[in-house]
Amino acid sequence: MSRPLTGFCAALLAAGLLVTPAAAAPADPGRAPATRDPGNGPERNEVAAAGPENAVQALTAGAERRWTPPQRGYPRQTRLREYPENPADRSIKLGLVPYHGIAPRLNALQAASDRVSAEVVGQSALGRDLYLVTVTAPESAAETRRQDRWRARIEDDPRAAARDRALRRGYKAPVWINANIHGDEWEGTDGALRVIERLATATDPATAALLRRTRVYITVTNNPDGRIAGQRPNGNGFDVNRDHATSSQPESRAVRDVVIATQPFVMLDEHGYTGTTLLEPATAPHGQNYEYDLYIRHALPNALGMEAAIQRLGHPETTRADIPFRDYAPGDWDDWPPIFTPMYAMYHGAVGHTVEIPLQVNRAAYDTLPVAELQRRARVNTDVADATITAAITYTDTHRAALLADQIEQFRRGWAGEPQRHIPDGYVEGFGPEDRYSTEFPRAYVIPAGTPAAARLVDHLVAHDVRVTAARRPFALNGRRYAAGTYVVDMHQPKRGLANVMLEAGRDISELVPQMYDISGWSHRLLWGADVHISRRALPRVPLTPVAVAAPTGAVDAPRRADLALRLRDGADVRAVNHLAAAGVPLRRSGERTVVVPRAHRRAAADAAGRFGVRFTAAPRGATTPFTAPVLAAAVSADELFVLRELGFDVRPVSTAVLNAGFDWTGVTTLMVSSGLSYAGLNPAAKAALDAFLARGGVVTRGATGATFNTAAALLPATAVRGRADANGVVRTSRGPSFVYSPIWFTGTGFTVVERYGADPLIAGHWREDTPGAGGPAQAANQASVVSGVTTRGGRAVLYGTEPLFRAHPKGLFADVAASIYAVTPATVAVTP
Ligand SMILES: [Zn+2]
Repeated sequence: MSRPLTGFCAALLAAGLLVTPAAAAPADPGRAPATRDPGNGPERNEVAAAGPENAVQALTAGAERRWTPPQRGYPRQTRLREYPENPADRSIKLGLVPYHGIAPRLNALQAASDRVSAEVVGQSALGRDLYLVTVTAPESAAETRRQDRWRARIEDDPRAAARDRALRRGYKAPVWINANIHGDEWEGTDGALRVIERLATATDPATAALLRRTRVYITVTNNPDGRIAGQRPNGNGFDVNRDHATSSQPESRAVRDVVIATQPFVMLDEHGYTGTTLLEPATAPHGQNYEYDLYIRHALPNALGMEAAIQRLGHPETTRADIPFRDYAPGDWDDWPPIFTPMYAMYHGAVGHTVEIPLQVNRAAYDTLPVAELQRRARVNTDVADATITAAITYTDTHRAALLADQIEQFRRGWAGEPQRHIPDGYVEGFGPEDRYSTEFPRAYVIPAGTPAAARLVDHLVAHDVRVTAARRPFALNGRRYAAGTYVVDMHQPKRGLANVMLEAGRDISELVPQMYDISGWSHRLLWGADVHISRRALPRVPLTPVAVAAPTGAVDAPRRADLALRLRDGADVRAVNHLAAAGVPLRRSGERTVVVPRAHRRAAADAAGRFGVRFTAAPRGATTPFTAPVLAAAVSADELFVLRELGFDVRPVSTAVLNAGFDWTGVTTLMVSSGLSYAGLNPAAKAALDAFLARGGVVTRGATGATFNTAAALLPATAVRGRADANGVVRTSRGPSFVYSPIWFTGTGFTVVERYGADPLIAGHWREDTPGAGGPAQAANQASVVSGVTTRGGRAVLYGTEPLFRAHPKGLFADVAASIYAVTPATVAVTP
């Protein structure tokens, strides 16, 4: 979760001048370096995404391919495909292993050692192999099956596991190292390769004994696209270390599958570069769904052991570490959202740590420092990665009995439905009231079936190892009646924390900490479009069947002679509409939210119903207008571009530079602006071409860049008021729950209000005032969050002050955006002269 260092600090670091704060008294809340990065990275609104065209991920239910380990003993060696040498790989300048160098190294190691097994657990956004290396003493197939049975017993029957002496004696302690999830934080990979080589080739009895007791799992690079390009995100422009709760990206799905299959006691996510090595545990607010007592009693000593290990390296830059739990103020480096690898892994039973290696070699440093200095820094960083991995393996081996007992205990509490434990002050050194976060788990969540949103949510939960059941008969609960097939999430289950962190609303933590590191609100229940009901006390009294995959939801529910209607409620409906339009079906519109398919095209509709899980009904009588398939020019951020393409829109990425180079507007119906397009920055020719488009085409904007564009291009007479820049979370609106980051609201007249913030907008997240009486939720209350109208140029426009596509998470809002796009798209495409 490396925070990009801002301004002054970054400049000093780049120049090598930043002296890390000397070791001060513990728990001095003012001691944390000012490394916070408010907002969501300037790139979100300033750099328009340009691609790529590939890697569209299915929104529909049941479509996910999951990695599961093969049923074989160890070694289970795979000859990895080797990639051609790529001299442009940005690792090379640092003296580090380029991506194309990894497979040959691993192939050679597998040939040399029966302790090393390499497997491919997925492909990156751009199609590169993701490797999982396992280092352990050889096992027969029977021994591996026994370990698998024991792993399952720990999760499925923790009471039996606790009593199982053979398990306690023979279960190999799993440790998992994830490296290089941020592509330009390289050396986790190199340190991990060194550990693999050392463990593989050591001839001493202690190493042999260690590997008889331990399985070391290493995902060698979680982001090959970023490693090669020297960039933080993956090939789709996503920060993978923000995606673990959403799983929109193949890299985070691979990690999900690995952590479920391996169930590690301890895991490290190797990052950089914070000046001083940083070792979690984190500051408050701590995720309220953890069994935090079981975590912190290992996380703190393991961090102290890693700190001692880097001190032993003897580098002047590694004399101490920052341990946020010990050294930072609350909110400076928190473990609140489940979007980071270690926080996500904690819900699967792991003691998770982010590790930040110290010395900057990326960004400005990469381009400005002498190569010799870069390589020196990279060597120190590699030493730190190696030392932290080695120390974590040692901690795991030394404390294997306690770690096993505590993982068993975490799952046991889940099955038993026991309350979380009260953790007293001083439970570990420095634990105080500010660290105490807890929740009350409901007895069950109930999800009515039959919609693509419900099916998607259920498949998502199941893919994350949350147990979901379906009612075999109709039932009543808390005064409501439910049909057979209704999904029930019984919260007496081993990974109840993960179930709850996805299904709860979250919490308004604005008053609890002064600031947050990244997002503080999310909710699959409120933002993914499915109805999810909470049953606080009662489990339905009805037979329940485990669900492996959600039931199909598609249907054509109309007489043969009727035209068919599809109501735009979900992204799946949008995909179906765009698919039918692309197939040449002459669609029509009936109001803002309904698309009509002529009865002659019933077969195509039935096909789309099956494919996307959507439901067609008989079309209402009344006037319809022709549907025009939008062709978008989009100056948007990478996550927005990804979602628009996922929804099946024809999108042409643009930016100020693209328009200034002479963009061909022919055929474009609709412009979307949220990032990297400045009207004032256009040259006269580009401005004239855009003005010609604005006289006929539609516009949808989002956020500050969109609002600035609206004003500069004189579209709608709405004044955008900016809320606090780092405010984010789930908000109440007149259309239901929505999501904001850097919220905006609109004042003025001469437009239609599509949506307003609620009277008390924030449901969950962190949103404070900027200054007294400004920028806060009280100022946003009842103000317009989305507005629309006919522009002074003659086209139509919709302006969003919310974040409906943010990181591809709020899937229940995607149809709103699509409806806006359809609504502003002119009915007939004007031919550009
Ligand atoms: Zn990082």
